[in-house]
Amino acid sequence: MSKEQEIICIICPLSCAITLSGDPENPQVSGHECNRGRDYALQEAADPRRVLTGTVRISGGSLPRLPVKTSAAIPRKMILEAARLLDRISTTVPRRCGELIAANFADSGADLIATRDLFPTKE
Ligand code: SF4
Repeated sequence: MSKEQEIICIICPLSCAITLSGDPENPQVSGHECNRGRDYALQEAADPRRVLTGTVRISGGSLPRLPVKTSAAIPRKMILEAARLLDRISTTVPRRCGELIAANFADSGADLIATRDLFPTKE
């Protein structure tokens, strides 16, 4: 690593400014207050990941869209393409919070799951 890389830790509200320097294969880490932050910074430098949240179309319920998220963080470089794929998904009520909507979503290794209940509209 020819130059230092600064990463703001998002694990807790303290938001430590963590610096990575030296050999990219075995960087020196400083500025962290705990090992969770150290692990986060190393992960962020090597393979940044995020949980994707969004909505998909749903029919038969009181709302036109169902909130969803990936069951685990997926590579950040996949986020844009995966977000576009949400528009191709359509489902129907009833759906329960935590229910599987799409397995191995966008070949990410993570599933797409509902993040709220949605039931048929009462007449
Ligand atoms: S390094 Fe530890 S104390 Fe600092 S923000 Fe991250 S989790 Fe919080």
